[in-house]
Amino acid sequence: MEYQLAGHVRPPTQAAIAWPAALLARAGTPDPVARAAGFGRWWLDRASGALLLSLEAAQLLGQRFGPHAGLRDAFGAAMAEDLPLLRAVLAPRQDACHAECEFRVHSRADGLRWLRLALLPAAGAPAEGVVADITAIKHAAMREAFSFESTQLMIGTHTLDEAVSKMIALVCADLGWDCGMYWSMEQSGADAGRLVCSQFWSGGPHPVPDAAGGLRLSIGAREGVVGAVWSSGQARWIEDLASDPEFLFPRYARQAGIHSGYAFPVAYDSDDGCRHRPGVLIFFSCLARQRAAQLPNLSAAIGALIAQTAQRMAQQESIRELAQVDGLTGLANRRHFHDLLAAACKRAAARGTAIGLLFIDLDRFKPINDGLGHAAGDAVLRQFAQRLAALAPPGCQAGRVGGDEFALFFDPGTGQQAGAGLLALANAVLAAARTRFLVNGRELVISASIGVSLFPDHGRLGAELLRHADSAMYRVKRAGRNGIGFYSGDGPGGELPSHAALLQQLTVEAELLDALDGGQLFVEYQPVCDTAAQGLRAVEALVRWRRPSGEIVRPDVFIPIAEQSHLIVDIGRWVIRQACKDLARMHAAGLEGLQVNVNMAALEFLNVNLPLELAAIADAAGVDPHHVCLELTEGMMMNHAEQVIPVMHALRRRGFKISVDDFGMGYSSLSRLKDLPISSLKIDRSFVNGLPGDHHDCAIVRTILDIGRNMQLDVIAEGVETESQLDHLGRLGCHLVQGYLTGRPMALAALVERHAAPCSHTLVHS
Ligand code: C2E
Ligand code: CA
Ligand code: CA
Repeated sequence: MEYQLAGHVRPPTQAAIAWPAALLARAGTPDPVARAAGFGRWWLDRASGALLLSLEAAQLLGQRFGPHAGLRDAFGAAMAEDLPLLRAVLAPRQDACHAECEFRVHSRADGLRWLRLALLPAAGAPAEGVVADITAIKHAAMREAFSFESTQLMIGTHTLDEAVSKMIALVCADLGWDCGMYWSMEQSGADAGRLVCSQFWSGGPHPVPDAAGGLRLSIGAREGVVGAVWSSGQARWIEDLASDPEFLFPRYARQAGIHSGYAFPVAYDSDDGCRHRPGVLIFFSCLARQRAAQLPNLSAAIGALIAQTAQRMAQQESIRELAQVDGLTGLANRRHFHDLLAAACKRAAARGTAIGLLFIDLDRFKPINDGLGHAAGDAVLRQFAQRLAALAPPGCQAGRVGGDEFALFFDPGTGQQAGAGLLALANAVLAAARTRFLVNGRELVISASIGVSLFPDHGRLGAELLRHADSAMYRVKRAGRNGIGFYSGDGPGGELPSHAALLQQLTVEAELLDALDGGQLFVEYQPVCDTAAQGLRAVEALVRWRRPSGEIVRPDVFIPIAEQSHLIVDIGRWVIRQACKDLARMHAAGLEGLQVNVNMAALEFLNVNLPLELAAIADAAGVDPHHVCLELTEGMMMNHAEQVIPVMHALRRRGFKISVDDFGMGYSSLSRLKDLPISSLKIDRSFVNGLPGDHHDCAIVRTILDIGRNMQLDVIAEGVETESQLDHLGRLGCHLVQGYLTGRPMALAALVERHAAPCSHTLVHS
C-alpha cells in the first residue's frame, strides 16, 4: 500500500476501528493539490472519536499518517490550551454542520505554527474535514496588530521606562512570548558604562529577576549574550538558555521555566547623525523557537519605535526647558516663576505658613549695556544669576522676570517663619550685587534695589505679591537705590501711585532732600506733664519744615511722603541727633533727668544696626539712653513683628525706652503686647477728644489705663485741650498728659525758658 512506502512518517499501529479500505488507501496516497495548497485531509468516526489522517494532514500535525484512536493521539503536538477548541469541533453530534477552529502546534524543528481545522459540511459517515497551515497569515495579522498597537502605545507614553515596559508587555501578548527584559546602558552613577536590567515584564508565573534568583542586575558592556548584542549591534537567538555558555543566568532560566530567547539591540540614529544604543531587549519563551518567528522581522521596528519615543521625550524636555528656563541665565523665566510662585502660595495657604518674596532690580545696569555692549551686559546678568542661585537656601526659587529684574521667593515650609531669614537673604542679595563683576578683564561695580513682600500679609496671590514687592522696590529706587524696602500696605505708598501723585511726590522728595541738606528742618518740643507731681516729665520732639518761602510745613504732610523712600531714615536720623543735642542743653539748663520722646518710622526699625547707631548718637551728644524714649505705632510693631521685635529688645538692652504711640488705633492683641519690651502707652488723641461726654471714648480710655496698670506701663494721654478732659483723666488716675492745654510744641529756647520753673498748664498760658 502506498502509505507503507512513505518512509518519512511512521506506519500506523493498530486501529481502534476498521476504516474502509478505500479510505485508508486514499489517506495514504500523496495529494499534490493538497500539498501545493498547504492543507491535508482527515476523517472522523463520530461514534468512537477515532480519526484517520492523510499524509499531508499528518505532516502538518507532526504525526504519523493513517488511523488514530482519538483526538489526543492525532493532535499530540497541539498546545494543551488549544485542545478544548479542537474537542468542540470534533465533538460527536448528530447534525453534520460546518465547524472550525484555529490552534497551535509546536515542534522542536519548526517551533510554533498556527493551523486551522475545518469540518466539511457534507453529511455522511465518516465525517470529513481539512487542516491547513495559516502561520504566515497569522503572523502577518499579528504584525499588523502589533505595529498598530505599539504606535498607539508609544504616543500615550511619557517616560522611556514606561515605553519600554509597555513594549515588552505588547510583544509578549501579541507575539506569544512569555517574558522579556530590557537592559539599559547606564550613563552615570555607580553603574556607569554597565548594562543594567531596568525593566522586566511577564504575563505568567515567571519570577521577577533578582540577585537571589542567580541573576545579576548589572553586567559589563561585553558580558554574556546581552553584552555581545549591545557591543556588536547584532541580534542573537539562544536556543537553549540552560545550556548556552554565553547566557549568564542558566539558574534563572531553569527556575523560571524558560527555554529559548531572542535578544536584539535598541538602536537609532539621531538627527545629528549620531548612532545611539540605549540598550538591549531580550524575550524568553518556555518553548524552543524557530528562526523564522516574527520577532526578528519586527525587532528593527521595535527598536526604532522606542528610539523615536526617546527622541520625542528629549524634544519635549527641551521644549519644556525652552518654555520655562531663561536662556541667558538658566533661572526660571518670568512665566515659569509666576507659576511656581502661584503654586507655592497655594501650598502655603493650605499649610497656613508664610512666604517671602524679593523683587530685585539691578541699579545702573543700562550704562553697562549702552557703554560696553550687550555682551558685557549679558555677562553681568549671568554672573549675578549665578550668585543668586548660589545663595538661595533650600525652599528658595530664583527667577529672571525682566531684563535686569530678578525675583526670589523663600518658602521655608512648616515650622519656620518666612520673615526670619528673609532680611538676611535680602542683605546677602544686596551684597552679591555690590560685589565686583569681572567683564572682559574690567571690574564693574553696580548695586541692587530690593522690594520685599510677604504672603499672606501683603497678598494671597502670586501676582499680587509680585506687584507689591515691585512697588516696594520702586520706592527703594527713588530713595537712592542700593537698599531694601518692605511693602507697606498701611501707608499711602501701599499701592502704586498715579502719575500725578508720583510727580508731586518726586517734587516734594527732591525738595525734602534739599531741606535736609540745607538746614530747613527744625524740631519743636511739646511738654509731657505729670499733673500729680506738678512737673515736666518729658518732651516730644516734633519735626517741622520751613520752606525757603518761609512757609512752615507740618510733619503730617511731609512725613508720609518721606516714609515712601529711604529719606525717612535720613530725616529720622537727623531728628534724633538734634533731639539728643537739645536734650543735653535742656539738662544743662536745669531740666535734669528730662526725657525726650522721638517718633520713629517703620523703615528705621527694619535696620538691625539701629541700636548701635542710636547708642553712638546718644553717646556723641553726652546723653544717657535712659533719657531717650522711642515712639512706635502699634502698626509698626505688629506688621513687621519678626524684624522689629528683635531690634526693640536690642534697644532696650542698650537702655533706650520704647513707647507705643497712638495706642488704641491698631488692634494689638493683648497677649502679644505683653511680650513686647515697652515702657509706656500713649492714648491716641482721638479718644481723649471725646472726654468726658462720649461714653465710648471714656470706656476705651479707662480700658487702656487698666491695661497700663496691669502691665506696669506708664500711660500718657495725648491731645488734652480742655480742663474738663484733664479733670476727667485725673479722676480716672491718668496723670501723664500732653496737649495744647499743658503746652504746645515750642522751640528749645521757649521750652527752657518756661519749664526751668515747675510745670503747670497755667504757666503755659502765661
Ligand atoms: P504724633 O506722634 O501723634 O505727635 C503728636 C501730634 O499731635 C503733633 O502733631 C502735635 O502737635 C499734636 N498735638 C499735640 N497736642 C495736641 C492737642 O492738644 N490738640 C491737637 N489737635 N493736636 C495736638 P505734629 O507735630 O503735626 O506731628 C504730627 C505727626 O507727625 C506726629 O504725630 C508724628 O506721627 C509725626 N512726626 C512728627 N515728628 C516726627 C519725626 O521726627 N519723625 C517721625 N517719624 N514722625 C514724626
Ligand atoms: Ca508721637
Ligand atoms: Ca500720637
